[in-house]
Amino acid sequence: MPTAENCLFCKIVRKEIPAREEYRDEHVVAFHDVNPQAPVHVLVVPTDHAEHLSAFTGAAADGTAARLLYTASEIGRRLGPGGYRVVINEGPDAGQSVFHLHAHVLAGRPLGWPPG
Ligand code: AMP
Repeated sequence: MPTAENCLFCKIVRKEIPAREEYRDEHVVAFHDVNPQAPVHVLVVPTDHAEHLSAFTGAAADGTAARLLYTASEIGRRLGPGGYRVVINEGPDAGQSVFHLHAHVLAGRPLGWPPG
């Protein structure tokens, strides 16, 4: 598992590798996915390293969890006026591939249900 030092999304947060950013503040960064699964596919990550949703616990997490969802909804409303979906994958069955908590914001086409 990555540490904050070598974590891909921490490097994006620290601007050590480039990303097409939609939003940034001290708590969260939102940027476009490099391999978009919909016309709009933005990732929202907390600036503090946490591997996944289940590691994101405790009183300190409360404010950041709210900001993560609030930012996802702001981006969804702005870029997906027809509707949007927010997804968090955790673990192998869900296909998590980057171990820094992130919310996917998907929009711009009808999104099937149930998801694959
Ligand atoms: P997950 O499978 O839920 O862990 O999602 C990881 C997401 O990160 C995938 O949709 C990837 O396409 C995306 N991704 C991987 N590397 C980058 C990167 N350098 N910049 C933007 N998105 C990335």
